[in-house]
Amino acid sequence: MTVCTQENPWDTFLELVQQEISKIEYINWIKPIGFRTFDAGKLTLSVPNVFVQNYLVENYADTLAKLLNTDEKKPLPIEFVIEAAPTKKRVVARSEVKKKPTLKPNLLLHDVALNDHYCFETFIEGPSNQFIKSAAYGVALKPGKTYNPLFIHGGVGLGKTHLLHSIGHLVQSKHKKIKLECITTEGFINDLVYHLKNKSVDKMKRHYRSLDVLLVDDIQFLQNRLNFEEEFCNMFESLINQSKQIVITSDKPPGELNLSERIIARMEWGIVGHVGVPDLETRVAILQHKAEQKGLMISSDTAFYIAEHIYKNVRQLEGALNRLSAYCKLMDREATIDVVDDILGEFFQAPLQSKVSIERILNSVASMYRVRVADIRGSSRHKDVALARQIAMYLARQLLSDSLVKIAGYFGGKTHSTLLHACKKIAQKQETDETLRRQIALIRQNIEA
Ligand code: ADP
Ligand code: MG
Repeated sequence: MTVCTQENPWDTFLELVQQEISKIEYINWIKPIGFRTFDAGKLTLSVPNVFVQNYLVENYADTLAKLLNTDEKKPLPIEFVIEAAPTKKRVVARSEVKKKPTLKPNLLLHDVALNDHYCFETFIEGPSNQFIKSAAYGVALKPGKTYNPLFIHGGVGLGKTHLLHSIGHLVQSKHKKIKLECITTEGFINDLVYHLKNKSVDKMKRHYRSLDVLLVDDIQFLQNRLNFEEEFCNMFESLINQSKQIVITSDKPPGELNLSERIIARMEWGIVGHVGVPDLETRVAILQHKAEQKGLMISSDTAFYIAEHIYKNVRQLEGALNRLSAYCKLMDREATIDVVDDILGEFFQAPLQSKVSIERILNSVASMYRVRVADIRGSSRHKDVALARQIAMYLARQLLSDSLVKIAGYFGGKTHSTLLHACKKIAQKQETDETLRRQIALIRQNIEA
């Protein structure tokens, strides 16, 4: 990092930080901060809430101290003013979009209205979902032109539907004329049953085939529904052949679904991405974001405490937060750790017994790239070692629930920004480099075996 030579250190900071963190992290945490003044060495910033302020200070104190030419040990010469963020332009939901007159309003009885809250802006990114989120974003920007179909799989409550609807919102806001439909697999089956009874299946087929984007949630419900599977497969092929975008979510990867080989092969045509369980820091960020939406103040300590004890999926985390928020509002109490223990104790999950350790990650990466663990931990800039180090950092962040600082420490005391940079680079590289993607998948299998 360089020392500021410009008049406004905040501009320099923004330039530096944008190169270091992902776009989404930037949008979630840095963009909401407004520059007010820079006077006599003191910077005044506006922040929408105290979480954003804490994030900035906790992660960038050293950088800011350098930019403001101050001693790192002294308090930063920054004044924060809490100021409510301007309300976001609302994205129009499917249910509010006027249907074209050519579409019969009751043609699909079970199509789904996009959930207003499920958009990219409210989806918190972390190592467990970074890759699939960027793929989803890419698809929404250029439907039918990048990854087609996009197949999103992962356990329950981890944000698959949230991502699916986010694609829908972005497509609708960017491409006004596009015909988009969001359905659940059960809805598709129920519609098909209805149209079979009413002898109007052809109309339904024509409708599907006229779409530009089809979002299908929970394809696992197509398993063991043989008649419907074939109809779905025909519709799928017809859309894909016309380069129309399809996005599918599932609780399993295509190969593990009990469906015909034909449809599995079709679903593997495009890109298959996994949404995993978020790591500790991402869970904290999700909690803080959701707490803020509810108008509940929770300190960093409380958020960490909850996120350490509830880790299996985001839906459970949200349920716990709803309960805590209701209690604090009704009883006019603060969300302290004692209150959390009382109110959420029964939600707490047994501590995670992970077999994965940093040693295991380092050994697996070192043997795949034929380099020494000591070199990965060291500072060699040799191409192979540097790549192995970045991959080990990326995997450590994905697989361990340790804090950023602790993980950076495993690599000979590198800084957390080096760690973030490595994670971002590897996530991006995987989008275009199939070999790298396979190598990482192999290492992961080895680590988790
Ligand atoms: P799934 O479809 O995978 O079962 P959902 O998409 O319904 O899960 O997500 C469950 C809840 O968790 C939703 O309220 C969603 O907004 C929230 N959620 C999941 N992942 C995230 C995330 N990364 N950021 C913000 N909210 C999330
Ligand atoms: Mg879902």
